[in-house]
Amino acid sequence: MDDAFYKQLLDEMHDGVYFVDRHRRILYWNRGAERLSGYSADEVIGRFCGDNLLRHVDECGRRLCTGMCPLAATIRDGQPRQAEVIMHHKQGHRVPVLVRVAPIRDKSDAIVGAVEVFSDNTYQKAALEEIERLRELALLDPLTGIGNRRFIESNTHSRLEELRRYGWPFGVILADIDHFKAINDTFGHLVGDDVLKMVAHTLAHNVRAFDAVGRWGGEEFAIVAQNVSAGMLLVLAERLRALVEQSTLFIGARNVHVTISLGAAIAHPDDTPLGLLDRADHLLYQSKQNGRNCVSSEAAPSSVVGAQKDVARMAPTAHKEVCSR
Ligand code: GH3
Ligand code: MG
Ligand code: MG
Repeated sequence: MDDAFYKQLLDEMHDGVYFVDRHRRILYWNRGAERLSGYSADEVIGRFCGDNLLRHVDECGRRLCTGMCPLAATIRDGQPRQAEVIMHHKQGHRVPVLVRVAPIRDKSDAIVGAVEVFSDNTYQKAALEEIERLRELALLDPLTGIGNRRFIESNTHSRLEELRRYGWPFGVILADIDHFKAINDTFGHLVGDDVLKMVAHTLAHNVRAFDAVGRWGGEEFAIVAQNVSAGMLLVLAERLRALVEQSTLFIGARNVHVTISLGAAIAHPDDTPLGLLDRADHLLYQSKQNGRNCVSSEAAPSSVVGAQKDVARMAPTAHKEVCSR
C-alpha cells in the first residue's frame, strides 16, 4: 500500500487525526481535524501545535501546552494516553474533545513523534452528565447521599443473576435503628435526620468497596455483600453493629448514640430480590425480639462459632452475643 492509500483512509475518518514530530511540529492533518478545528491542513502543517493554534486547556481553563500537554508526555515516556481537553476552534470558540495519543517509533524503536486522534466530545459529555444526573436522582437517597431502596433492589437483582449464572455467592443484611422514635421525640426531627446520616455513613465507610449500602426506608438500611459465606456475612453484620454502637453525634453538651438490630440472609439461586430481603427482614425482627442491638442469621452453628472467633478478633469491644437461629 502506498502513502496515498493511508492518507485517503485517514481522511475518511470522522475523527481528527494529526501527527507531530518530537518537537510537536505538525506533519499531517486529516480532513476530520480540519472539520473539528476549522483549520485547514495548509494553515497548520509545519507549525507547532501549541503555536497559537489548538491551545488545549483543561476544564478549569488551564493551558496544557506549557507542561501538561498529553502529546508531550507521550513523546517523553512512550505511553499512550487519553484525555478530555477543550480545544480552540479557528472561529474562536472552545470545543470539548476526547484526545487519544500514541507514540510513533522509527525502525530502531526510538520515539520520533506522536499521533493524536481527537473526537468531538460535546454530545458524549452532555449525555454522560445527564445520565449521571438521572442516575443520582433515581438511585440516591437525598437525605443520606447513599443508595436508595431502588438501588438495593437493582443491586440484589444483578447479584442474583450472577449467582445463578456463575455461582458467585452473596448475602444481604437489613439493619434497623433501635428505638429511633425516641430519638426524634427527645431531640427533634432534625437531630433524627443527623442520626440517620451518621448511621448511613458508618455503614457506607465500613463495608468493602464492592459491597452496596442503601437506605431501605425510614430508619432501615440494607447492605448487599458480595462473595461471602454465611459465616463471613455474620462477621460483617456484627462488625457494623459494633461500629454503629461506637458512633457518636455531639449535640451541644449531649452525646447521641444509637444501636441497630440486624438480619443477615445468604442468597439462594431460586430467591427473588424481594424474597431474599424479606428473609433478612424476618431475621431482623428476630433480633428485635431478642432484645435489639444484635444480629440474627441463618448461619449454621459451626460457622457461627467460626464467625464469633472472627468477631472477637475484629471487634474486641463487642459485648453483645450474636443471636442465631
Ligand atoms: P424499633 O426499635 O422497634 O425499631 O423502634 P423504632 O422507634 O425505631 O421504630 P418505629 O417504627 O416505631 O419508629 C420509626 C421512626 O422513624 C418513626 C419515624 O418518624 C422515624 N423516621 C422515619 N423516617 C425518618 C426521617 O427521614 N427522619 C427522621 N428524623 N425520622 C424518621
Ligand atoms: Mg427502628
Ligand atoms: Mg423500622
